Amino acid sequence: MTIETDVAIIGAGPIGLFAVFELGLLDLKCHLVDILDRPGGQCTELYPEKPIYDIPGLPIVTGQELVNRLLEQIKPFDPQFHFGEMATALEKLSDGRWKLKTDAGTEIVAPVIVVGAGAGSFQPKRPPVPGIEAYEGTSVHYAVRKMETFRDQNVLIVGGGDSALDWTLNLHPVAKRITLLHRRDEFRAAPHSVEQMRALVAGGKMDLRLGQVTSLAGTEGKLTGATIKGNDNNVTEIACDTMLPFFGLTMKLGPVANWGIALENNLVPVETSAFETNVSGIFAIGDINTYPGKLKLILCGFHEGALMSQKAHRYVYPEKRLVFQYTTSSSSLQKKLGVS
Ligand SMILES: Cc1cc2nc3c(=O)[nH]c(=O)nc-3n(C[C@H](O)[C@H](O)[C@H](O)COP(=O)(O)OP(=O)(O)OC[C@H]3O[C@@H](n4cnc5c(N)ncnc54)[C@H](O)[C@@H]3O)c2cc1C
Repeated sequence: MTIETDVAIIGAGPIGLFAVFELGLLDLKCHLVDILDRPGGQCTELYPEKPIYDIPGLPIVTGQELVNRLLEQIKPFDPQFHFGEMATALEKLSDGRWKLKTDAGTEIVAPVIVVGAGAGSFQPKRPPVPGIEAYEGTSVHYAVRKMETFRDQNVLIVGGGDSALDWTLNLHPVAKRITLLHRRDEFRAAPHSVEQMRALVAGGKMDLRLGQVTSLAGTEGKLTGATIKGNDNNVTEIACDTMLPFFGLTMKLGPVANWGIALENNLVPVETSAFETNVSGIFAIGDINTYPGKLKLILCGFHEGALMSQKAHRYVYPEKRLVFQYTTSSSSLQKKLGVS
């Protein structure tokens, strides 16, 4: 699928989201790519319920609430999201535009690229099971994209956090049988989910095992079973078609490092009039960039997005003069926001 737009944003963290607003006020349309399955970056992935106290005008707001408000604020500009996709390659076209490719086959062609990749892409931690790579993408999955994929399958879910428990409960009606495997009989997940899981186990509707996977069995990427070493040191085999390990996420700079953009200690150096990189038309805003005096604060990233948008406008509409306007007094801006 090839999409043409004005701006392709890598990262739907708070800074990528607010950039949509600033770009939208200047009539620039955006597509955003994020490897996560929802917007918010660190705010929703690492601290959704923690209060933030230094967002101007919001004395206290949780990570999730801030993201909800940003989503509401950018709604008039109808941003298009590509979740669960890793931006992998960037290529310059002969007409001067960029083609951004994702690992899901999406291609976004745009005159402007905004790297809002934060501390890098969130990537699932791989459990230490020998040979697990051979099953990844076929029988071992680190995210659930479509529940139907697991219909009538024996599913082994590994982990004790919210993702493991949520998918245990969500997939239970779809799968043939769910086995939840965790290292110990204590869970980090929400207590309500743990209670629901325990009720299913008590009713004989799913299995809970305590221990670790030590090896996998199968052929040509197709899993048939797993060997489990229990906490009592007993070794048993269970039949399974699918394994879903939820061992948390790590952050890696990832493919951004391969795009020919200058890097400094895994950060992207930018100038500070528009937060453009050493490559014309590619900007970097938020936690991913570096410049003298940089602070990794959300409010700083918002400012960077505003200045970036002014220069991005020149790439998309080189012939149009940009007139500076306030949202309080400009009827044209208010029209774009749908408030007049
Ligand atoms: C515990 C904690 C508390 C914090 N408290 C505060 C606070 O009180 N006040 C404050 O101002 N800041 C706080 N911060 C910092 C704040 O969260 C960050 O400054 C902010 O999230 C940066 O936003 P961002 O959009 O630049 O990056 P991120 O939030 O990191 O989002 C970047 C997104 O890009 C995606 N991505 C990266 N590479 C790719 C790729 N190649 N393909 C697809 N997707 C990709 C990632 O998956 C991620 O979703 C806190 C951070 C933490 C961890």
